[in-house]
Amino acid sequence: MKMKSVGIVGTGPAALMAGTILLENDFKVVFFDQKKTPARKFLVAGNGGFNLTNDEEISMFLNRYNSDIIKKAVVSFDNNDFRNFLSKIGIETFIGSSGKIFPLKGIKPIEVLKAWQEYLIHLGATFKMEHFLNDFNEDELFFESKGTIIAYKFDYYVFALGGNSWSITGSDGNWLNMFVEKGIECVKFESSNSGFELLNHDSLKEFAGKSIKNCKVFSDNDEKFGELVMTEYGIEGPPVYAINPYFRNGHSIYIDFKPRMNIESIEQKLLNARNSSEGLRDLKLPKVVIAWLKLSLNKVDFQNKRILSETIKKFELNVTNLRPIEEVISTIGGINMNSINDSFQLKKLTKAFCIGEMLDWDAPTGGYLIQGCVSSGHAAANSIISHS
Ligand SMILES: Cc1cc2nc3c(=O)[nH]c(=O)nc-3n(C[C@H](O)[C@H](O)[C@H](O)COP(=O)(O)OP(=O)(O)OC[C@H]3O[C@@H](n4cnc5c(N)ncnc54)[C@H](O)[C@@H]3O)c2cc1C
Repeated sequence: MKMKSVGIVGTGPAALMAGTILLENDFKVVFFDQKKTPARKFLVAGNGGFNLTNDEEISMFLNRYNSDIIKKAVVSFDNNDFRNFLSKIGIETFIGSSGKIFPLKGIKPIEVLKAWQEYLIHLGATFKMEHFLNDFNEDELFFESKGTIIAYKFDYYVFALGGNSWSITGSDGNWLNMFVEKGIECVKFESSNSGFELLNHDSLKEFAGKSIKNCKVFSDNDEKFGELVMTEYGIEGPPVYAINPYFRNGHSIYIDFKPRMNIESIEQKLLNARNSSEGLRDLKLPKVVIAWLKLSLNKVDFQNKRILSETIKKFELNVTNLRPIEEVISTIGGINMNSINDSFQLKKLTKAFCIGEMLDWDAPTGGYLIQGCVSSGHAAANSIISHS
C-alpha cells in the first residue's frame, strides 16, 4: 500500500529526481506541468551537448555554487551518485576531455528523458500535462487545465518551476508573483550564464562565429580559462559565463590573450618583428584578436611594443550588458534562499518545498546547473521521507 502523497509541479530534472526518490520509497507521486510534454528545457540543454554533471573533485565542485544550501545538497547527492542513478536506468555516461559528463555517444537527450520517465511510470508515477498552476494554499494546489480550474490535495507539495529563460520551454517565471503575494520573499530574475554585449563591437561583426582559444577572462577577484566565441553583439563562452557574477557586481572584466606568456616574453617577440602586425602574427594570435587590438589602440600605442604587450595581457572589455534574460542558459533570482530551510522546505508553508532553478542560487555551466537541480530534488524528497 502506498504511503503519503506528493504533488510535484514541474517536470525538469529537479522535479524528476525528487519524484524518483519519493517513488522509490513508496510515496504516491503526481507530476504536473503546464506544457504538453515534460522537461522541455532539459531537452533544450541536450541540444547543445548534454552536459549532465562534471567529474571535478568535490571540493572544487562545491566552489562552483554560491549557496551553502545547494552545496550541502550536492555533498549528499554528488556527481557519482547521479551517474550511478543514470546507469541504473540504462543511461551510461562518459567523461569528456574537459571533465564534463555526457551520455554515451549515440544516446539522444530524448532517450535519457524517456528512460527516466519510464522508470518513474514503472514505479507508479502519474503525469498530468497541460496543467498550469495558478494558485495554492496550505491545503490545495489549483491548476487551470483546458479552461477548467481543478483543485488537488496532497500531503506535501514540491515546486520545481524553473528559472526565467527560454520561456518557450515553460520555464517562464510567471509564477513569481504568486509566491510574492503569499509573503514569500523573492528576488527579481536576472541573466546568468550569459554572453557579454560589448561597446563598439560593430566593426568586429564579420568575425561572428570565430573562436579565440586558450585565453583567460578575469576580474580583480577571479580568473577563468577557456575558449571564447565572437558573436554579432560581443562574446560568448564558458569563461565568460563563469565570470558573469563579477560583472553583475560592478567589477571590470579583462581578457589575457596569452595567459601562458609573461609581458616580457611577449614584448621581446614583438621587438624581434619588423612591426607590430608581424609581431602579433608571430605570437600566433588569431586574426580576430589582431583586429580587436588594432581597433582598441590608437596608431601610436599600437606600435608601442610595451603598451601592446600590456594590452594583450590585460585587455579591458567594455561590457554594456548581459544578453536578454530570455536567451540565457540560466537565471538567478526567484525564491530567496532565506525563504527555505536547508531541506528546501518553505519556512512559511511547511507542506511545501521549492527546488531547482526557481531558487536564487548560481553556478556556471559545465554540468553544475543540472547537478544542483537534481541534488536539491534529492534533498527535498529525503526531507519529506524523514517527516513522514
Ligand atoms: C540552451 C541551454 C543549455 C543548457 N545546457 C546545460 C548543460 O549543458 N548543463 C547543465 O547543467 N545545465 C544546462 N542548462 C540549464 C538546465 O537546463 C536548467 O538549469 C535546468 O533544466 C533547470 O531545471 P529545473 O528542474 O529547476 O527546471 P526546468 O527544467 O526549467 O523545469 C521547470 C518546469 O516547470 C514548469 N512550469 C513552470 N511554471 C509552471 C506553472 N505555473 N504551472 C505548471 N508548470 C510550470 C515548466 O513548464 C517546466 O517544465 C541549459 C539551459 C539552456 C536554456
